[in-house]
Amino acid sequence: MTAEDEQALKDEERRATLIFPSVEAFVTDYIAHIVQRRTDDRSHVWCPSWWTHGEAVARLTALWRAFEYLSGDPALGMSTWWLHHADPHLAVLLDPRGPFHACGSELGHQACVPLPTAPAPPGTFDHEAFTLPYEDPFPGDPLNLPTS
Ligand SMILES: [Zn+2]
Repeated sequence: MTAEDEQALKDEERRATLIFPSVEAFVTDYIAHIVQRRTDDRSHVWCPSWWTHGEAVARLTALWRAFEYLSGDPALGMSTWWLHHADPHLAVLLDPRGPFHACGSELGHQACVPLPTAPAPPGTFDHEAFTLPYEDPFPGDPLNLPTS
């Protein structure tokens, strides 16, 4: 068995233990059915092409992963998921000023403009508070191959 075959087997075993095999399945088979909000008055907004919004994909993936992890706790898992994960993420996602602000059930998807950014002046983030500790896992010159 090759390393690729072993990884594919591990991935398949991991997916077999999941309730939903992907974030897309989680959204279309669970979120879209269980979360019901009025959207015709724009008090809440949802984009049918939610997968085109980076923030939505990031938040929904986080929700899916938390759901999969917390569903293993039969006592408090789902309550924790709703109160500490679903409620705050869904409040942002469905907010008329949120990532779907230009879209809607009737409008469909509308392209959104990313937040503007400008490059920081050199040295702005040189302080150690703005860096993560990092150790090179492969120290040395990568081209300094051993000789026999
Ligand atoms: Zn959209």
